[in-house]
Amino acid sequence: MKAVYALIIQVENSTGIRIGSLGNVLFNIGIYAYVGSAQSNLNQRINRHLRKEKKLFWHIDYLLNNDNTKIMKVFIKKGIKKEECNLAKLIGIKGVAIPKFGSSDCRCKGHLFLIKDDKFLKRNMKEMAIKHNTF
Ligand SMILES: [Zn+2]
Repeated sequence: MKAVYALIIQVENSTGIRIGSLGNVLFNIGIYAYVGSAQSNLNQRINRHLRKEKKLFWHIDYLLNNDNTKIMKVFIKKGIKKEECNLAKLIGIKGVAIPKFGSSDCRCKGHLFLIKDDKFLKRNMKEMAIKHNTF
């Protein structure tokens, strides 16, 4: 299934995190939404996000690798790759973009946002059951 997804991420302590090529970025305590898409194996992609141990490649890997961050929820929706940016635009109305985060190959301001709540996502997306690896 081609799908777009939104990771709802809790930042538990304000912290500066080195995000690959972006350098050091300050994250305040709060709820963030990250938008991505999977063109083939959605479950595999989500499981990769949920795993702390991995080779850090995407901006989101650096954020999720930090001990102060945790994925709380995952919302999914059917859609081709360009829907990813449409979803980013929608979330951008409600949230504050972290400049250039996850958007090196498109024109969006960013694909990560500080949001107040995730209620608006429940209206047109489906929540996925997730399981954190504890080992
Ligand atoms: Zn985009």
